[in-house]
Amino acid sequence: MALERTFSIIKPDATRRNLTGAVNAMIEAAGLRIVAQKRVHMTRAQAETFYGVHKERPFFGELVDFMISEPVVVQVLEGEGAIAKYRDVMGATNPANAADGTIRKAHALSVGENTVHGSDAPETAAIEIAQFFAGNEIVG
Ligand code: ATP
Ligand code: MG
Repeated sequence: MALERTFSIIKPDATRRNLTGAVNAMIEAAGLRIVAQKRVHMTRAQAETFYGVHKERPFFGELVDFMISEPVVVQVLEGEGAIAKYRDVMGATNPANAADGTIRKAHALSVGENTVHGSDAPETAAIEIAQFFAGNEIVG
């Protein structure tokens, strides 16, 4: 399997509850390396662009309001098969369906306030990383 990079967000429900370190510990325990990280308060425009694929969905407004409600931590994670591996570590979108040992099972509050984001494919990972990081901010 190839060395990959994926884009991660520690969402407002987690930063609000002081869980950045707890989430990072689960990321690192899974063998993923945090090669870039910063805490930002997204603007509405940034959140609407980031989740633009969902703009016709009924929860879009609620999702954007949530993502700008508190700071988030944006990250680039690196590892063998990092995209699929991080999706596994995150668990199902709805924490009620998330497997034991996953971040969402451990920490998510609801299908909306679900603690983390992770890219779903190499193409989206590249786009999402470029939205938040310059090349020289990623140090592998
Ligand atoms: P993410 O893209 O954040 O990693 P995901 O890929 O597991 O999550 P998506 O289907 O892409 O899930 O949904 C994006 C985000 O929109 C979810 O993580 C969640 O915060 C929110 N969301 C999804 N479905 C709902 C819903 N039914 N009600 C409220 N919010 C939702
Ligand atoms: Mg998604």
